[in-house]
Amino acid sequence: GIVATDVRKNFGDFVALDGVDLNVPSGRLTALLGPSGGGKSTLLRIIAGLEYPDSGTVLIDDHDATWAPPQKRSVGFVFQHYAAFKHLSVFRNVAFGLEIRRRPKAEIRSRVMELLELVHLEQFADRLPSQLSGGQRQRMALARALAVQPQVLLLDEPFGALDTQVRKELRDWLRRLHDEVHVTTVFVTHDQEEALEVSDELVVINHGRIEQVGTPTELYDNPANDFVMRFIGPVT
Ligand code: ATP
Ligand code: MG
Repeated sequence: GIVATDVRKNFGDFVALDGVDLNVPSGRLTALLGPSGGGKSTLLRIIAGLEYPDSGTVLIDDHDATWAPPQKRSVGFVFQHYAAFKHLSVFRNVAFGLEIRRRPKAEIRSRVMELLELVHLEQFADRLPSQLSGGQRQRMALARALAVQPQVLLLDEPFGALDTQVRKELRDWLRRLHDEVHVTTVFVTHDQEEALEVSDELVVINHGRIEQVGTPTELYDNPANDFVMRFIGPVT
C-alpha cells in the first residue's frame, strides 16, 4: 500500500500541497478526485518519484520511498497522453521495461503475451502504436505499466483525451482488470461520475488539501462540507 504523511509542496510561494495525508491499502483502487489545479498530479508525481516533497514522507509497501528515484520504487504509471515508442511494435513497447532489465527472452515473450491478452490486444502485437485507436493505445500503456509487476499503479487521467463512449468502456474495463490483478492503484480524475463508478474509495482534494475520504456512497450521502457536496453531489 501507499502511506503519504503530511506531504507539502510549494512552487515558489504557491502552495500546491498543504499537508496531505493519503493512505491506500494494498490492493485497493482509490480515486483521487478534485478540480483543476487542486494538486492531484503533483501528489501523484511525488508518489511516483518524478517530483520530491518539501517535507513529509511517502511509504510504499512499508519502505520509505520519499527520496527514492522512480526506478527504485515499484510503481507503474500512465498519463493522459501516453508517449509510446512510435517505431516499436505494440509487443516491444510492452516488453520495454523487461528488456532493459535483461529478462530472458522466453520469459519476456510469455509475460508480454499474457499482458496483451489481459488488455485484449493479443491480435495487435505486431502493429505500431500509430495503428491503434486511442482507447487501444491507453490499454497498451496499461499493459506496459504492469509489465514489470509494480506494487503500485498510478493513473493520471489515463482516459482524459478520449471520447465519452470509449471512456465509459475503458472505465468498466479498468474495474474488471483491477478485480483480476489487484494491484494497489491510484486513479486521478476530475470527473465525479468516473470516480464514483470506478473506485473502492474516493479522496477529494482541493487547493492542496484533502477535503474528504470515503466510499462513493459515504461521500455521496454524507459530504463533509459544502465543497464536497457541490463537487460530488449533483451528478448530472
Ligand atoms: P488538473 O486537473 O488540471 O490536471 P491537478 O489537480 O493535477 O489539476 P496540479 O498539476 O497538481 O493540479 O497542480 C497544482 C497547482 O500547482 C496548480 O496551480 C499548478 O499550476 C501548480 N504547479 C504544478 N506544477 C508546477 C510547477 N512545476 N511549477 C509551478 N507551479 C506548478
Ligand atoms: Mg493533473
